[in-house]
Amino acid sequence: MIKSLLQRILKPAKPKAGTPLPQKYSRRTHRIDPHKISQAALKTTEGLQRAGFRAFIVGGAVRDLMLGKTPKDFDVATDATPEQVRQVFRRSRIIGRRFRIVHVLFGAETIEVTTFRGSHLSEDGDAQVAESGRILRDNVFGSQEEDAARRDFTINALYYDPVSEEVWDYHQGVPDLQKRVLRIIGDPETRYREDPVRMLRAVRLSAKLGMKLDRATEAPIPRLAGLLQEVPAPRIFDEMLKLFLSGHAMESALALRKHGLHHGVLPLLDVVLEQPLGERFVNLALQNTDRRVLQDKPVSPAFLFACLLWHEVLAAWQKYQASGMRPVSALHLAIREVSETQADKLAIPRRYAVAMKEIWGLQPRFEQRAGQRPFRLLEHERYRAGYDFLLLRCESGELPMELAAWWDAFAHADTETRKRMLQPDSAPKKRRRRRKKTSTAQPLAPQA
Ligand code: ATP
Ligand code: MG
Repeated sequence: MIKSLLQRILKPAKPKAGTPLPQKYSRRTHRIDPHKISQAALKTTEGLQRAGFRAFIVGGAVRDLMLGKTPKDFDVATDATPEQVRQVFRRSRIIGRRFRIVHVLFGAETIEVTTFRGSHLSEDGDAQVAESGRILRDNVFGSQEEDAARRDFTINALYYDPVSEEVWDYHQGVPDLQKRVLRIIGDPETRYREDPVRMLRAVRLSAKLGMKLDRATEAPIPRLAGLLQEVPAPRIFDEMLKLFLSGHAMESALALRKHGLHHGVLPLLDVVLEQPLGERFVNLALQNTDRRVLQDKPVSPAFLFACLLWHEVLAAWQKYQASGMRPVSALHLAIREVSETQADKLAIPRRYAVAMKEIWGLQPRFEQRAGQRPFRLLEHERYRAGYDFLLLRCESGELPMELAAWWDAFAHADTETRKRMLQPDSAPKKRRRRRKKTSTAQPLAPQA
């Protein structure tokens, strides 16, 4: 019932009448440099074609190649079924229970091979749509043309055949790429209702590629932003990680805010950015992340989320201290509070959440510069991340720069110099009593 009703309301993307499909572009126009294509992707398409199937490199890889970039990964689309792909490549395995795709392995590289997918509106397939229009399941094989229509943006629906060196374009993706316009395929509202994550992708890809969002593609986003609430949290988390690790994190965060999308992603980003210290802190953290990504250095998601949520921890920490609690116990409670509310809502995977809490938990230990404690802190497994975090706190004005400078000097000094650098234990008796009382707060910086 619902399906046939939706079939009438939702029109699948249709090309303009009279347009020959697809448009085919030769190397003279697309200018793809064959050297930028991985050997594994070439072997996959050639192998499938030799076995009598159609096979193309698709999606982000073609887009990036046409922009002169070297793609990080390659996807291949084919008319062969997963079983047929398996038969062509000895070293391959079928993954996914619903829509099965094949991983073809060449040394360390894996190529993801997908059979052309059809429309979720087709009668015979395994498809299901919610009343909001969100596609719950669309495990339908289809033609190449249908496969193109169910992709998100015109520039992501290009097919490159490395053998003939042709780019096939079903949705005017090539002219859009040349004009640097990011345009959704079909009716924007329908496509966002089908999958609200496309709104996040629009923001992320336009920031990452430096492309303008087409007006009609952009217009419905603020009104439909609330639909993100329906999307399972782990999917949002994956997309958010891509967004913050794109090398354009700050632009993406600002664009999320501009389009009202941050409520579904980082509900309190607004609040954080409105406090001068919070804004400075997040800015510095994101700039740092962007710099590392652009230099191809590793970036830790745990560190990133520790930064994004820090000012909430800080607010709760101050609240508990104001109610008379000792700093370490207050921080412990604040961490728990923020983890239980925000972090769980964001579906931060456990391995990241544990490291994130450790980074926060180490912070008070940087303020203790007497006795054996600084030596023990230096030995801690997460000292480096803890120190980098401290540095951001100092640079944002939350703590004096002198503290970070002291730790930097201490970490690089020899043992004798370190001993000389220690501060006097000002109130030893009182301290001993206090340590006993706060011993319950020890798990704050767990030795993992
Ligand atoms: P990136 O460079 O960040 O990997 P990408 O466009 O390659 O960008 P992927 O998530 O790797 O992003 O997706 C590969 C392709 O799958 C896209 O280019 C697009 O054609 C299609 N795709 C991905 N997500 C969606 C979606 N939510 N709706 C429709 N098509 C999608
Ligand atoms: Mg990709």
